[in-house]
Amino acid sequence: MTGLDGRVALVTGGSRGIGAAIATRLAADGADVAITYARAEDRAAEVVGQIEGLGRKALAIRADSADAEALTSAVDSAAGVLGGLDVLVNNAGIFAVTPVEELAVADIDRMLAIHVRAVLVATKAAVPHMTRGGRIISVGSNLAERAIGPGLSLYSASKSALLGLTRALGRELAPRGITAVVVQPGSTDTEMNPAGGEHAAAQLALNPSGRFAEPADIAATVAHLAGDGGRLITGTAITIDGGLNA
Ligand code: NDP
Repeated sequence: MTGLDGRVALVTGGSRGIGAAIATRLAADGADVAITYARAEDRAAEVVGQIEGLGRKALAIRADSADAEALTSAVDSAAGVLGGLDVLVNNAGIFAVTPVEELAVADIDRMLAIHVRAVLVATKAAVPHMTRGGRIISVGSNLAERAIGPGLSLYSASKSALLGLTRALGRELAPRGITAVVVQPGSTDTEMNPAGGEHAAAQLALNPSGRFAEPADIAATVAHLAGDGGRLITGTAITIDGGLNA
């Protein structure tokens, strides 16, 4: 155990990929951790088992981030069961590449609900549970700042909204000792974007590091931000993309 002993974290979309890596890393660093998931109940149960295996308390809550009531209730349940809330990680996300003229309004609404509205809803619910030292860490994307190909208007718009939201939250919450940061991964090997997938080569061609990140790479930065080392990092973005956006 390290710097997060006695802290409580909630990671949205913690059943797979980057969210699962963040949840287990925060637990390895000493935190009790709740996760939400939309569909993957068995995968969420596995993550709970891993966290409990690390000697920490864990809780999985089914809550579609597009459902504001379910998400609010998940935040309150996590804080109630685990005894407060110190770290909120807004990670749940979906991906789609769609030419702008083919975007369905329902798809626009769903992605904005999961990537933007949910972050506001979860933050609104989490802040009353937080004391000094609280952390709001959102998982954005390097595509917020550089659209590397066609079909990204909706995804890039949804992730770039987190930049404005995080800057405003950082300024608003700093006097209360609560930070807000957006972590912007680049290509990261998950089911959303497999390193062996058909779109991998095009991404690697733009990446001077020539490799995908592992979910643990993103989790390491989130763990730093969640700990004492992150106490003055607020209202800003940290990009972890091997230099692709440089
Ligand atoms: P995965 O598809 O591997 O995992 C997504 C996770 O989010 C799952 O736990 C899933 O739960 C959950 N989730 C999806 N939709 C919802 C929802 N409506 N409500 C609650 N939970 C939901 O994706 P990644 O781990 O790759 O992505 C995690 C985050 O990182 C996302 O925000 C993504 O945009 C971002 N990102 C990823 C990059 C990459 O290259 N992988 C690059 C840049 C950013 P369930 O399985 O139960 O549905």
